[in-house]
Amino acid sequence: MAYPTVQLHINGEWRAARGGKSLPVINPATEEVIGEVAHASTADLDEALDAAARGFATWKKVSAFDRSKLMRKAADLLRSRADMIAALMTAEQGKPLGEARMEVMAGADVIDWFAEEARRAYGRVIPARAEGVYQLVIKEPIGPVAAFTPWNFPINQVVRKLSAAVATGCSIIVKAPEETPASPAELVRCFVDAGLPAGVVGLVYGIPAEISEYLIPHPVIRKVTFTGSTPVGKMLSALAGKHMKRVTMELGGHAPAIVFDDADLDLAARTLAGAKFRNAGQVCVSPTRFLVQEAMYAPFVEKFTAAAKALKVGNGMEEGVQMGPLVHDRRIPWVEGLMADARQRGAEVHTGGERIGNKGYFYAPTVLTGVTKEARMMNEEPFGPLAMISSFKDFDEVVEEANRLPYGLASYAFTRSAKTANAIASKVESGMMTINHLGLALPEVPFGGMKDSGYGSEGGSEAIEAYLNTKFVSQAGL
Ligand code: NAD
Repeated sequence: MAYPTVQLHINGEWRAARGGKSLPVINPATEEVIGEVAHASTADLDEALDAAARGFATWKKVSAFDRSKLMRKAADLLRSRADMIAALMTAEQGKPLGEARMEVMAGADVIDWFAEEARRAYGRVIPARAEGVYQLVIKEPIGPVAAFTPWNFPINQVVRKLSAAVATGCSIIVKAPEETPASPAELVRCFVDAGLPAGVVGLVYGIPAEISEYLIPHPVIRKVTFTGSTPVGKMLSALAGKHMKRVTMELGGHAPAIVFDDADLDLAARTLAGAKFRNAGQVCVSPTRFLVQEAMYAPFVEKFTAAAKALKVGNGMEEGVQMGPLVHDRRIPWVEGLMADARQRGAEVHTGGERIGNKGYFYAPTVLTGVTKEARMMNEEPFGPLAMISSFKDFDEVVEEANRLPYGLASYAFTRSAKTANAIASKVESGMMTINHLGLALPEVPFGGMKDSGYGSEGGSEAIEAYLNTKFVSQAGL
């Protein structure tokens, strides 16, 4: 598979940056430069904005019925190109090929779902107080969108924003990740090849801060959507607020995974280990603080550690590999810093705790106990393969720990008691909770956080609503 020179897509054209600049793309498993990605300048952004304004004027007039048909064509193209796109994603991001392929196929399902939902952007009629008056609530596309997406799910993070925009009749400029640019470019290509008119989607890469500072205040842009870290999300929200732009923020998390004494131990250990080490822990909803009730604690540590030790770590292109490298060179020192801090505070390492080899950004699946609440990793998002297990006595204690941090994205619980399940679901402050299984991130269900994890949803009917304005019309007959 040849890795392409990744281009910008502006005003219906695939092209290099006007200034001729590009950035290298590195395979995180080998540390080799595998390609280049075009680096947009202000001239490119101006063209993209101009095209987005014209793209919106065209696209909002197309009926939801026709938008939906085009989107289903894009979804079919994505499915038919899944093997090629998955290989690009593994080369640039590192995740195992099977996971990459699943992400591409799930992306097609996201497009299909939004294509259907687009046709149900219903308004309503409100009964009037006077005869002959009609009170109408009408939904209209909000306008050109600026979207900023990260490298951990190069397709998934783009497809939710792109599909919601295209479905509702908006145009969108996507600032996709420079670390993993080729697979999202192929996603955009599916929409373009399906017949999306010029200007409806723009794709740019460059210096993230320069691009966000230019696009967000620009009068053409009406909505901002960002997935990434909480500090950056707060900065971009503040900028958007200053310019009165609608915002969706999907930010960091530090998910508690709560295992009660009456849980199915095997199910909990197996399910949570799978979730923890997926994508090397670089997942916003990754379980991070494992809180296990006393009677279950020792056997859980044993089973979870065994599951972590059994994982095959390596180049995602190789058969049987279950966990790839971290995505870029900045992640290794970050994880090492968290580990040094925890060790210094007396944490016990049951497995892992070190980099694997010195070529490729591989870090061993790591299980720790005895990590104090003051440790950095118990407060900051590890975004790596670190699992911290601690024990709790009773329900109130675990609720207090689960809600201790300002994050509130995902949470997990395992219990055989319906009463405990209901109680924990109502007490934990998180945008999403799954109990006795993993059930997050389907297109038809809400996906989003509370507190410092952001606001708005990237799934379910709420995701469509975020791209629509509500207009009220009251009409009296003459
Ligand atoms: P980073 O903060 O440099 O970048 C995180 C993401 O934000 C990247 O996609 C980057 O392009 C973007 N970004 C950064 N500054 C920006 C700006 N001023 N304007 C627009 N976009 C900007 O850190 P990193 O080392 O690449 O990633 C590590 C951290 O990022 C993690 O700790 C995690 O919290 C967060 N992250 C979260 C998600 C998620 O799914 N919520 C995904 C990737 C990264």
